[in-house]
Amino acid sequence: MKVAVFSTKPYDRRFLEEANQQYSHDLSFFETRLNVETARLAEGHEAVTVFVNDDCREPVLKVLKEGGTRCLALRSAGFNHVDLSAALKMGFTVNRVPAYSPHAVAEHTLALCLSLNRQIHRAFNRVREGNFALDGLLGFDLHGKTVGIIGTGKIGAIVAHAFLGFGCRVLAYDIQRNPDCEKEGVEYLPLPELLPESDVVSLHCPLTPETRHLINRESLNRAKMGAMLINTSRGALVETKAVVEALKNGRLGALALDVYEEEGDLFFEDLSNEVIHDDVFMRLLTFPNVLITGHQAFFTREALQNITATTLGNISAFARGETNGNELSEEFLAIQ
Ligand code: NAD
Repeated sequence: MKVAVFSTKPYDRRFLEEANQQYSHDLSFFETRLNVETARLAEGHEAVTVFVNDDCREPVLKVLKEGGTRCLALRSAGFNHVDLSAALKMGFTVNRVPAYSPHAVAEHTLALCLSLNRQIHRAFNRVREGNFALDGLLGFDLHGKTVGIIGTGKIGAIVAHAFLGFGCRVLAYDIQRNPDCEKEGVEYLPLPELLPESDVVSLHCPLTPETRHLINRESLNRAKMGAMLINTSRGALVETKAVVEALKNGRLGALALDVYEEEGDLFFEDLSNEVIHDDVFMRLLTFPNVLITGHQAFFTREALQNITATTLGNISAFARGETNGNELSEEFLAIQ
């Protein structure tokens, strides 16, 4: 099947070409993001594959449909960037990679927590400059601290397990309890009760209308003074301006982000020679107690192998007129 690949980075191409030896699709690689201007590049391709910051709203879908595309294959688990209702009405098959490596994201969450707490990122620079002073690098023992996990699905459960391994008390908030977490000793609490108890809060729920700005001025006022907030899920779970205020007044003691609500204009590109116009993002970078990575939590060899093989497998299932369980149907509209 002819497949247009949008947002292609060199690593996407390498892993897709490797996986395609098994599937033999005809892949056209486009470095550009999918948007209303670039959608015409997909003309004549029955399948289009996209990543998290591609624009899959109705006007773009219309252009894709006019060009003959029928299958939208997401190289991600999250689908908040797709107007699913419009896509289904237009007759698209939309499929995704429901799980490629929850371990990759969970391990990055722990890496952020440990680096930020023990100031590894600052220590690295200091030592390279011959500055061996410890002042400003003081951390805390994770052992004995309370960690609040919001969303105990595939990723959140692994994060909870890891923090339990450090000897933490682990609290959780989810609309659905995970019995495996409960068996391990995770205590479920309503969010307003979890926040004041938690020294570290880590977000692992999807972005939906209910979870948008889940962390806002009001919820931050409930948080424990000096708590650490980690977001490796989706940027808009956090109201960034409220978080800047909370960092300024000390309510938040530390912030680690792998995702940012306006990341679409920044992440995955080399902007080191550009003027960055996002003042809120630039303000975040000025805090000594903020650590940001550019949506790399998923970025392991194993995850890329799974993403590419599943995406091409999803397209093959579509080509055969079959379903393989990775399609987004009407029932997913309720959680969008
Ligand atoms: P999952 O579906 O297995 O788990 C999500 C959990 O969130 C579920 O237990 C669900 O019940 C819970 N949830 C849903 N709505 C909620 C609400 N309103 N309040 C509290 N909990 C709620 O998903 P997962 O595989 O663990 O992934 C979690 C998120 O991680 C994804 O939605 C995605 O946004 C993000 N993610 C980020 C990266 C990255 O590279 N940074 C990579 C993959 C996934």
